[in-house]
Amino acid sequence: MIVMNCKYFFIPRNYLHFYNHNKSLLFRKSNIHTFQYTSKPSSYLYHTQRKFPKFSSVIHASRINFKALNSQLQVVCLFRTSAPRNIPAVVWLVLRPILKFAAVVTGRGIRKWWKNLPKDKKQYFINEIKANRRKIGIALSLILGLSVTYYLSHLESTPITNRKRFMAFNPKQIEQINRFELDMLMQNFGSKLLPHNHPTTIRVQNVVRRIIAANADIKEFEGKEFGVSVVDSSVENAFVIPLGHVFVFSGMLNLCSNDDQLGTILSHEIAHCILNHGAENVSFAHLLDMISIVIIAAIWAVIPIDSFSVLMHWLYQKSIKIFLELPYSRKTEMEADYVGLQLAAKSCFDVRESSAFWCKMAFLTKTFGNGPEIEFLSTHPSHEKRSESLDNIMDQAIQLRTLCGCPKLNWRDPRLHVEAVNKAIELQRRQFFEQNKKPVDVIKMR
Ligand SMILES: [Zn+2]
Repeated sequence: MIVMNCKYFFIPRNYLHFYNHNKSLLFRKSNIHTFQYTSKPSSYLYHTQRKFPKFSSVIHASRINFKALNSQLQVVCLFRTSAPRNIPAVVWLVLRPILKFAAVVTGRGIRKWWKNLPKDKKQYFINEIKANRRKIGIALSLILGLSVTYYLSHLESTPITNRKRFMAFNPKQIEQINRFELDMLMQNFGSKLLPHNHPTTIRVQNVVRRIIAANADIKEFEGKEFGVSVVDSSVENAFVIPLGHVFVFSGMLNLCSNDDQLGTILSHEIAHCILNHGAENVSFAHLLDMISIVIIAAIWAVIPIDSFSVLMHWLYQKSIKIFLELPYSRKTEMEADYVGLQLAAKSCFDVRESSAFWCKMAFLTKTFGNGPEIEFLSTHPSHEKRSESLDNIMDQAIQLRTLCGCPKLNWRDPRLHVEAVNKAIELQRRQFFEQNKKPVDVIKMR
């Protein structure tokens, strides 16, 4: 067996000539599988065709094995077509609800068709399935095997944390989604964006520059151009889109007591960006969608009454959200907290402010929000849990900060300060209610 490697392999049906490096003719034949062996096995194959620009069927060939058969070579291509990964990723996002709707219609259509079938026809199909159960079993095993191969071939490791994850789209496709997302965001925020020379924008830019400069040794920062936009809105949020554009809302800036808190928040957001969590979330959603399409079609095909199908469909979607999507989202949040704290430590921010910030947020939510958060039903870990888990890795972060030659931390721990402020506010609140509570009228019963 002779193995030849080539970068591109053109579908043989369309070929006329194959050439080696030196442009000397290797073979000229139009049979799909068999070629006359005419050159050294290490030669790369070049192909020409009369209408080359119109050539449409190109397959990326990772390897081509040439089996020698009686002075001829049979081509066995072990290739992976690039077609599924070349579908524009944005198209997948648009197709997603349409495919789910099609699954409902198909499943329901199969059920109605089966219901209206005469008894003898039903028996005929049942007998056919029984007679061909081996073939059906093989076909199903093949589909399962291909699905597992697809999943395994799209696994990769996260940078820094080395966690295995599924990535459905290649970087080019993800860039398309991100550019689309950036255009949409810019259009939506429009007039609410503060100018680049606004003091608030400059403050955020300085914090972002500090993080990038201190972490320039991380490979994922290479080639990324971070932009900064401040949205004049009371929304308490900040995020970084995977292209590297930082969005901060003035509501979030009001919540950050100082640049150290802002630095740790933005380090967390930048961690999402360099860990490519955006692409990972889209891939995870894509994987769930592909599985869901089959299950939704099965729900509508098997359950005999439409109202029960609606109920089961709803239950299925809620279960997927609670048991898969939300825990996955919380896991990536915790990972961004872990990596973000390292980025903040290297940038010489007071990393203790990260825990202090979430402690303050937990208090504010409990006191002035809708009561304690229910983590189980949230995309993010609870504020208390974030504060606790950051405290668990705080010593390492402080050590890393010292190793980077940062100035000494203030003797006053901001976490203790926030705790003291929270206690004082809680005491004042109780006293206020004690002093202003209405006397209860006691009606005596005779
Ligand atoms: Zn986050």
